[in-house]
Amino acid sequence: MRVTQRFLILILALPMLLSKNIYANDKDKKISSITLNADSTNFYQELLHDKTDDLMENHPADDIYNNIWTSTKLNPYKIPIDSLPDSVKIDLSSFCVPVPGHVTSHFGPRRYRYHYGTDIKLQTGDSVVSSFAGKIRIIDYDRRGYGHYVVIRHDNGLETVYAHLSQVLVSLDQHVAAGEPIALGGSTGRSTGPHLHYEIRFLGNAMNPAKIIDFAYGSPFKEEYLITKKHSFYYQKEVQAMAAAKYYKIRRGDNLSRIASRNGTSVKALCRLNGISTKKMLRIGQTIRIR
Ligand SMILES: [Zn+2]
Repeated sequence: MRVTQRFLILILALPMLLSKNIYANDKDKKISSITLNADSTNFYQELLHDKTDDLMENHPADDIYNNIWTSTKLNPYKIPIDSLPDSVKIDLSSFCVPVPGHVTSHFGPRRYRYHYGTDIKLQTGDSVVSSFAGKIRIIDYDRRGYGHYVVIRHDNGLETVYAHLSQVLVSLDQHVAAGEPIALGGSTGRSTGPHLHYEIRFLGNAMNPAKIIDFAYGSPFKEEYLITKKHSFYYQKEVQAMAAAKYYKIRRGDNLSRIASRNGTSVKALCRLNGISTKKMLRIGQTIRIR
């Protein structure tokens, strides 16, 4: 009787436990720390830490993703990078470049946020194609970020994001082939001109596309990419430092030494953080980083 009761409580509490931290690591517009959610990672602890197992070879993508399939969250998996296996082989042999233009902005830190993708120049109306065979998981609109965007789950275990689209040509749950047009490029959402914001993710965690794909040639560096914590998620420390960053808005009468002493830091540290010299003129209303 007691065991049954405990089981019932567990079942009832499960949705609550799983819904926690569901937004961590979402979207390129927000910086949030990656939170370990032990409740939903048990499955992966077993699956991912079997050192004798070649993950992608022995488990189909659905298995890796624990059969989680949702059209509302970019990263519903909540797999902290620390819980990822040491290495996973990904087959890139069928890769198609989503759009042939040149790279205009790289994966990496932006002033107040982290940019989790590679931006590729295009003309509004240009075809955007799926990088690999897969299934359309998300079609959504984010006015302040991605604009119109599509997320595809691929058979090789990766997920890709295509953002700032002018028109989407596919529907949810549709199967697509590598190179099949999925949308027309545009400049919707937070965008200063027509381009494709392109992301490559594994179990929800973004990787730098330019380390996997040689955009100058529109093909992968190698037919097989080895995901490793060290090389694929090297940027985590940067993200954490940015999440901890604090900013200060310059007011009348401020100077660097006053700002430093009021915020428990030094002029030297302020200059280093902001890439400025000690003689830098401060403008009222300007924002500088203090931590
Ligand atoms: Zn972008």
